[in-house]
Formats: sequence, C-alpha cells, structure tokens
Amino acid sequence: MRLFVDWDGTVTVEDSLVQVIHEFGDPAMLAELEPRVGVDLTLHEEIALEFAAITAPLEEVVAWALENVEVRPGLRELAALRPTIVSAGFHELIGPVLLREGVELPVLANTVEPGPDGWVVHFRDEAVCATCGEPCKRGGLAGEPYAYVGDGYSDRCAALAADRVFARRALADYLVSRNLTFEPFETLDDVAAALT
Ligand SMILES: [Mg+2]
Ligand SMILES: [Zn+2]
Repeated sequence: MRLFVDWDGTVTVEDSLVQVIHEFGDPAMLAELEPRVGVDLTLHEEIALEFAAITAPLEEVVAWALENVEVRPGLRELAALRPTIVSAGFHELIGPVLLREGVELPVLANTVEPGPDGWVVHFRDEAVCATCGEPCKRGGLAGEPYAYVGDGYSDRCAALAADRVFARRALADYLVSRNLTFEPFETLDDVAAALT
C-alpha cells in the first residue's frame, strides 16, 4: 500500500511553518488568520498572507530551520518504507532538513519565491477539491489505496480517503469528532512498526 506522510507536526516535532512565522514573520497575523481557515479563508490563502509578511532572505531562514527544526524519532525507519512526504509547506524548507537527517524521499510540496517585499508562495495544486471545497492534498493522492500519517487541518480530506490513518493532535480530534477510526502515534517508529 502507498504511504503518504505530512511534514509539519508529523515528521517534525513542531510545525516548522508556525516556528518560522514566530521567528521571522507576524505571529499576531497567524493568531488572527488561523481560526478563519475553513470559515472565510482557505488554507492556501492563510499561508500566502502569512508568508507575504516574511522578508528575511531564504538562506537565513534555512539556516535557522536547520538549527531549530527537530524531527520525530524513527524517520529513518519510516523512510525504509518509502513514503512520500505531502506538505502544505515548502520544498525550500523541507529539503534541507531531510538532507540534514540523511534521508532522501519524494516530496509533494509548494515552493516559495523569497523577496524583500515578502515571500510569494507558488502552490503545487490549486485545483479546488470537490469534497472539501478548497485546494487540498486529496486530489494529488487519488488512485491506489494508501495509508496516511498526519496531524492537522491540511490532512483532513486526504485522511478521509485513506485506507489506514495514523493521526495525532488536531487531526486525531477531528477524526474522533466524526467517529472515524485511526491509529494514534507518538513517534515515527510507532508508524513504521505498525506498517511492517
Ligand atoms: Mg501538519
Ligand atoms: Zn479536499
């Protein structure tokens, strides 16, 4: 079975986009916009606005990420199962952390064009999903059955279409609220062991 794994808060211990906004962006904007996602903003709109408020050079942010973004134990064990990372974040921030960890995996993510007037996000897939009504991860994963590992809002729709779901935090709460089954996890070793 195919395996798709979210990046922020799933592979990483903390959401690295949130970490970067707190360090280089506008945390007040994050606090204002986050509750509006799924109400009067799409996730893409939220991300685009929050990163437009970041003007730091990419090299500086990547260097910061390499020092501060921590991954959950068991990434190598999980990587042996050849998952694809699927992220609402950016290749520019994910790639260097994977390299630091000595892990090479396919990544489905967005790209950023950093500039002194704010970062411009280029989204991989802007197609509006027929199920959730906003651009989401689900469409890109359609086809053969898959297992999905995630933790948050961006994972909801893709998790609903998965044959097996590993969830924590907000994604777990969401699935509980809908009476859907999933397997909780703490480390990526847990996930690798369950799938082996
Ligand atoms: Mg996440
Ligand atoms: Zn969707």
